[in-house]
Parts: sequence; structure tokens; C-alpha cells
Amino acid sequence: MSIASIQSSDELRDLYRELILDHSRKPRHFGKLANATHTAEGINPLCGDKLQVYLQLDTADVIESASFEGSGCAISVASASLMTEIVIGRSRESALDYFAAITAHLTAVKPGKSASVDLEKIRALDGVREFPARVKCATLAWHALHSAIKQQAGPVTTE
Ligand code: ZN
Repeated sequence: MSIASIQSSDELRDLYRELILDHSRKPRHFGKLANATHTAEGINPLCGDKLQVYLQLDTADVIESASFEGSGCAISVASASLMTEIVIGRSRESALDYFAAITAHLTAVKPGKSASVDLEKIRALDGVREFPARVKCATLAWHALHSAIKQQAGPVTTE
């Protein structure tokens, strides 16, 4: 079933729900990255989400691989899984662009538009925008990504 064939918003919501469930049950790139050059922990005490993000950047500052491990709710795990899929193969700068666009999009009152970032990739997470507490779950992996790239010391927390 393609996106184009979907008529109603209910069907679209169901598709997104399935995508989130699929990523939370079978997270992509789950586990420690042996050759990680950058890593950071993200903690969301409100929900109990705790994720460690690993990145391997090459000499040209391109993210060769990314992974995560830890535990959390379905939203936080699915978001981390989607995050790894999005950032692998991207430059450091491009990944930071995604971090800025996605966190702004999920926390803003109105959906954002970004010239350089394709927000379609995280459309499945749009449902959390109505629930501020869940926004922290959805953005946790992205904050950890940001922290890892910037090589900030200590865990990043949503509180
Ligand atoms: Zn959560």
C-alpha cells in the first residue's frame, strides 16, 4: 500500500501507528557500536526513557554508522530507530540540521517547514505534537544525537 493510495486521515494514522509499533518492536541499528567515535546518553526521567546513542564519523565528518541501546517507551525507541536510519550517510552538519528542524517541528505549535530537511521521514511522530510529555520521548534520541556530535560531557536530560 502506497501513501498515495491512502484516502482518509484515519488510514494514515493507522499506517503511522503501525510504523511506530514496527520500529519499537524491531528497532533498527540497536546495540552498541564497536567503533563509535561519538556517543551520548539521553535520559527522560518523566517517562523513564534511557538511551545511549553511538555514532561513527569518518575523517570527512560523515556519519558512517549510528546505533543506540537502552530502554524506553515505544515512542522513544521508535524515534531513536528512525533517527539512526535518517542520519546514517549524512554529514555532521546535515545531521545537526535535522536535529534543529525535527525538535522545532515537534515542539512548535504549528508544523514547521524546512528548506534543507525532509520532515516526511518523521511524519509518523507527528501525533505526539498534541502531547507535550510525549514530545520529550520523541525528541530524546535527537537530543542525544546532538550531544554526541557536539561531544558534550555527561548525559543529556529532558528535565
Ligand atoms: Zn517515553
